Amino acid sequence: MFKDQVIERFHQEFGNPDRVRSKVTAFNAGALGVVVQTDQPNREDAAFVWLPYPPDDQPVPEIALEYAGDSGRHSGTYASAGLEKGQPALKLIVRSDAELNDVVAYIKAHTSNATLPAVKATPRVATLEAGTEGTLIPVDLNSMPAPKPVAPRREAIPRAVQREVWQRDGGACVECASRQLLCFDHIVPFSLGGSNTVRNLQLLCEPCNLSKGNRI
Ligand SMILES: [Zn+2]
Repeated sequence: MFKDQVIERFHQEFGNPDRVRSKVTAFNAGALGVVVQTDQPNREDAAFVWLPYPPDDQPVPEIALEYAGDSGRHSGTYASAGLEKGQPALKLIVRSDAELNDVVAYIKAHTSNATLPAVKATPRVATLEAGTEGTLIPVDLNSMPAPKPVAPRREAIPRAVQREVWQRDGGACVECASRQLLCFDHIVPFSLGGSNTVRNLQLLCEPCNLSKGNRI
């Protein structure tokens, strides 16, 4: 399981875990709580890593779900030293070695109060259906477009914006009205130019958020 690789890597980087339970393996990296969820039955082989929310002017990893304090899933379940109950938190969905490397660099920068680096989502490779190999079309390489400029870093949603969205949406998922597992969703995804404005944010529960992600 990929989560075991993540735990092993964190062990090397941050020393012995300070708590190992059936639900979590928790590390204290500097003063920062880092929790790997071990109770999650993963349909795909991803590791779920919880971190404290970064300062307002610092970027959020592309692979993060963002949870407000008080009412998100984080309000107690995965609390740990350095990742306190009721504080806003990030849940990172880590799926590749490249993402894991970025996450380690991110945590290390976080613990030393350095500028946080970007954590990029690894593009997921679509598999060709059998029998489609012969349909590749030769093209002139000169017709290939120039590379796009590097996408802007994703910034954390300011707390004032979080509060306004929370109030507007009544502290419940806008799709199914659940009050559990809530996180902030970008209506236009950040990767497509969506911004951290009240208009572009909504509250979704984690199942609705994940099913939206699968539709895109
Ligand atoms: Zn929902």
